[in-house]
Amino acid sequence: MITILGSRGTIPVSGYEYVKYGGCTPSLLARMDDVAIIFDAGTGIYKINTIRSFKKIHIFLSHLHWDHIMGLPIFSYFYRENIDIFIYVDDKNDLDTSNFIRYLFKEPFFPVSHEKLSCNLSIIKIDYDSKYLFGDYEIIPFPGCHPNGASMFLIYNSKIKCLYATDFEHGSDKDDILVEAAKGVDYLIYDTTYTPDDFLGVRDGINKKGWGHSTFEYGVKFAKKSKSKNLILFHHNPDYVDCFIDEIVIMAKKQFSQTIASYDGMVLQ
Ligand SMILES: [Zn+2]
Ligand SMILES: [Zn+2]
Repeated sequence: MITILGSRGTIPVSGYEYVKYGGCTPSLLARMDDVAIIFDAGTGIYKINTIRSFKKIHIFLSHLHWDHIMGLPIFSYFYRENIDIFIYVDDKNDLDTSNFIRYLFKEPFFPVSHEKLSCNLSIIKIDYDSKYLFGDYEIIPFPGCHPNGASMFLIYNSKIKCLYATDFEHGSDKDDILVEAAKGVDYLIYDTTYTPDDFLGVRDGINKKGWGHSTFEYGVKFAKKSKSKNLILFHHNPDYVDCFIDEIVIMAKKQFSQTIASYDGMVLQ
């Protein structure tokens, strides 16, 4: 069972026009007793703060853009003792992978320094030749297409198989990697930040090519090619209010009937 804690891309949003799909930025949770496996640490991660039973937490970060890490400083498990937290990241920037947390918890941006965190924290560089095993869950990382890189994650156990492919731009050699990784999955969670028109600049005169995001049309293409059972539209544009996402779902369903738009609190099983 995987719970989507945050579905919104770029920045968190709130208000009556965002009630249906939610406003938290990306975070997903798979849990096994006192172990949590989390994918991305957008603002959605705060919802785990009230679950106080985890002892071990594995956080896979797709990349280090703000919307995927901005929940880390408010993640209360950092401030608890006898908690083991492992953060997995493929950092392609000049920052040393093990050091990015120092930059995040640093004055004048945040009042608590990383040295004052109470948990046992380990930062691990993602190895694309490895599988990560936790109980009956297996996690396999794949390189995606995004400025400075972003990882995709195949998440599966005996009950569910899902590819988490956010912050992915179509049109490179990574397309084939995605299709191969998504072969036969129950859920393809895919970056649909833009409508096809918006991607080309029809809405605001700004062409979004090279910004690292995609459209529902490519989500449909990849879902069909990989024979995914369901396509989950994800990383919703903060400009897209609920009724507009409803329209996108209708358009996407005409091309691939098993399309659903992700919402905060959605449970995949
Ligand atoms: Zn993002
Ligand atoms: Zn990004």
